[in-house]
Amino acid sequence: MPGLAVLRRWRVKAEVLKQEYDQVQGDAVLDTLRRFGVVVWVAVPLHSALALWFFLYQAPVGRAAMQSWADALAWLQTALVLALLVSAVLARRMVRRRHAPGPAGLVLQAAFCSAYLAFGAAAAILDVGVGNGIATFLIISMGVAVLSLMRPLFSALVFGLAFGVFGGILHTASMDATLLASFQIQALSTVLMAQLISVMMWHQYSRRVLLSRKLGLTHAALLAKQQELETLAERDTLTGLYNRRKFMQLAEQELSRAARMPSDICLLMVDLDFFKHINDHHGHPAGDAVLQQVAGILLHAVRGTDVVARMGGEEFIVLMPNTARAGALVAAEKLRHALSEHPLDLGECRVPVTASIGVTGLGPQQRASIDALYAAADLALYAAKKNGRDRVESADPAVVEALAEFSALRA
Ligand code: GH3
Ligand code: MG
Ligand code: MG
Repeated sequence: MPGLAVLRRWRVKAEVLKQEYDQVQGDAVLDTLRRFGVVVWVAVPLHSALALWFFLYQAPVGRAAMQSWADALAWLQTALVLALLVSAVLARRMVRRRHAPGPAGLVLQAAFCSAYLAFGAAAAILDVGVGNGIATFLIISMGVAVLSLMRPLFSALVFGLAFGVFGGILHTASMDATLLASFQIQALSTVLMAQLISVMMWHQYSRRVLLSRKLGLTHAALLAKQQELETLAERDTLTGLYNRRKFMQLAEQELSRAARMPSDICLLMVDLDFFKHINDHHGHPAGDAVLQQVAGILLHAVRGTDVVARMGGEEFIVLMPNTARAGALVAAEKLRHALSEHPLDLGECRVPVTASIGVTGLGPQQRASIDALYAAADLALYAAKKNGRDRVESADPAVVEALAEFSALRA
């Protein structure tokens, strides 16, 4: 039946709205309490001034009703000021805690609105008694609708009650029937308008909060993605070390720093020996595990300021800023020992691994490009392989000198 389908659709919509409203309720109370905190800065001085004015008011002789009206309003304004101050202190406490204040916050919000509306109603009744209109009730109802973020049912309850009580008391006041009807119509139109404004404010608020939360989540996801992409662009996925591209970039930076503030700088090229055999005998995954463990050993063996990278395959590289050639050779030997002394434990088997290491370096007065330094270290590595592997070879300083001169000529 089409009627039932429409009803079902409405029920689903209402359920979705309810869930959305539940999600923003906490924030709405907190924001309303925040607004109250601001409003009291204006409201308290205003109502205090009015209270003073009414206390000092002297009715013309023979106008006792006017004097009673002013006295009653003076006390009413004073009571409102006290209520505002107490609510402001409580609201401030809740806002300071920053998280959604729960039912206590809602009760405070309801109390604040009721106090203001009750004041508006009482002041309007007093005004009617001396022949004035019900403007106070109208203004305060609108103010509450704009300031207090309330769910539609909640606001309907607040304004419904306000109208019920105000209309009821108005009914008991002795006045002309036409005037009474006019005031009642004005009051009804006011609460209906206030309810409409309140629903619009609430709806807009909940849309905005939900949208900004969604944006926040999207922003966080984007940041995470960007981080991930940056890592992918800089790191070798298997070992987590810097990749070739990032290494070259960092090495350039270190070389120009060494040029500005003359210091030694060394480069180590580390190539695992007969790595192909490991793959062939234990399988590619075991080879991968070896590469990961070697990366860990490398990182552990060098200084925190050294730059370690995987250049590709089973070849690693270490740039050692502020390190003289002698120190780099000691570090290379330490590293070679660390690898060759203990076979790597792969769980199912233990795999002996050795490495050949080529070392090169520049003295404080020498300059060379990273490519020249890399070429010199590669020559030293080649010598280590040729001379039997599992050993460290240092590039001939004359070769480095020649490469440095070549770099200088090309620069
Ligand atoms: P040498 O002592 O002369 O360096 O011999 P080698 O076997 O270590 O060198 P070779 O260049 O002949 O073989 C390198 C091997 O490294 C071949 C290649 O399959 C393997 N390899 C390269 N990248 C990876 C990787 O990411 N994982 C694994 N498991 N193996 C890799
Ligand atoms: Mg190798
Ligand atoms: Mg190799």
